[in-house]
Amino acid sequence: MTLRVHNTITGEKELFKPIHPGKVGIYLCGPTVYRPAHIGHAVGPVIFDVIKRYLTFKGFDVTWIVNVTDVEDKLIAEAERCGRSVSELAKELEQSYVDCMRALGVRSIDRMPRASEHIDTIIEHIEKLIERDAAYEVDGNVYFDVTRDADYGKLSNRKPEEQFEGTRDGLVKSAKRSPGDFALWKAAKPHEPDDVKFDSPWGSGRPGWHIECSAMAMKYLGETFDIHGGGLDLKFPHHENEIAQAESATGKPFARFWLHNGLTRFNTKKISKSDPDFEKMMDSLQLSSLLKKHNPELLRFLILQSQYRSPIDFSSDTLASAEKGLKTFYRLLERLARVTDTDPYDMVLQLEAKRGEALNDECRKLMNDVLDQRVRFLEAMDDDFNTAGAIAVLFEVAGVINRFLDALRLETHPDEPSRSMAQAAGGSFVFLARLLGLMVQPPKQQDHDGRTPELLDLFVEVRKMAREAKQFQLADHIRDRLAENGVVLEDRKDGTGWRIE
Ligand SMILES: [Zn+2]
Repeated sequence: MTLRVHNTITGEKELFKPIHPGKVGIYLCGPTVYRPAHIGHAVGPVIFDVIKRYLTFKGFDVTWIVNVTDVEDKLIAEAERCGRSVSELAKELEQSYVDCMRALGVRSIDRMPRASEHIDTIIEHIEKLIERDAAYEVDGNVYFDVTRDADYGKLSNRKPEEQFEGTRDGLVKSAKRSPGDFALWKAAKPHEPDDVKFDSPWGSGRPGWHIECSAMAMKYLGETFDIHGGGLDLKFPHHENEIAQAESATGKPFARFWLHNGLTRFNTKKISKSDPDFEKMMDSLQLSSLLKKHNPELLRFLILQSQYRSPIDFSSDTLASAEKGLKTFYRLLERLARVTDTDPYDMVLQLEAKRGEALNDECRKLMNDVLDQRVRFLEAMDDDFNTAGAIAVLFEVAGVINRFLDALRLETHPDEPSRSMAQAAGGSFVFLARLLGLMVQPPKQQDHDGRTPELLDLFVEVRKMAREAKQFQLADHIRDRLAENGVVLEDRKDGTGWRIE
């Protein structure tokens, strides 16, 4: 089976082949940390977490970078409005973003570089552009000269002049040679706080937003890398400018594949700043409060129920129907736990091993059906990471297993070969669901502040250290106190685990 990926730059689904055999580099535009993240900010990370899981499953060694824009006009304005320092506000919002991602099960990001910590890299990149005559300085500002880039606009098929004035770059028209030129470096203004003023060959100032991404992507993934992602709204001018900056500096192609995820709609309305209800909408869609209110896996499930290029409808109706769907999966695993007397979250892939066994008709049918569905699941994922199609297959697998349990009345009349087949089929279901980052842990154990699993793992680790140091009293104390708080430590095949009662 071969993976095909829709590439925005060609407008076609292309065969995916990495630049370096066996390795894949991914860059996803991350948050500008000036306001709390909303549900729309979860879409890209959840999808790319699945993309990384799937590519890893296919045997690739994947490096995934998500930047943090902590130097930017809107952040400066917001810090001033709240009477706080830029760095303090940025750090707080970055932490909140990271906590939300963890709660959503997005744990595979390899590095989150901050713009403020890469000023030297950014300056070097701008110097290269000036050397190559692709950029020029005016009064401490440096602009990219779009007339020097013959193929500008190849991603979005738009003209540089379409970059409107007074947007995130706050460009001063008169200082630019042509209206489509955009800022790479912005001279510091006297009233601006010190923590956004950096020394440069052009005087004190700060980088533009676009150059932060080009410079950091190339630093961590090389001049040419495999996949660049982001929301559809970033295609122009942000991604177009990233390409222009990178390719004008190196003379080489920047990202091989461009993947753009669809935007979130709230009650079927596009989330737009021009909407009179925008602020109200933002408050109700704030990610940290949604994660307190809902099972985080539900939000992840809702996002993955759409193919990533389609818009995602977020409303009480879509949430309710996603919840119903997800419950089908939970119920299946509860049934399997009762029938097989095994923790379904510990079930492993073993269906293939059943092929050689003598099986009765029902068992053979279940095995064949699940193996067929597994092929369909992988075909859906190979078709431009079609998670919607993959989830539809999961429902079918759940249906097949449920029908098997019903037909043989296994909950009341257990028999060994059928139990073992149910367990093997359950293992396949869990394996496939986990390629989407679903069914990783029982819903009860999902934390709502994003930290509980790590803290409990830490207790387990400290207890192990105490035992190794023969401090059994301390080890027992940790176990007993956790038990008093409803956390049971269990000795499992792979060491000690925990379960919330
Ligand atoms: Zn970016």
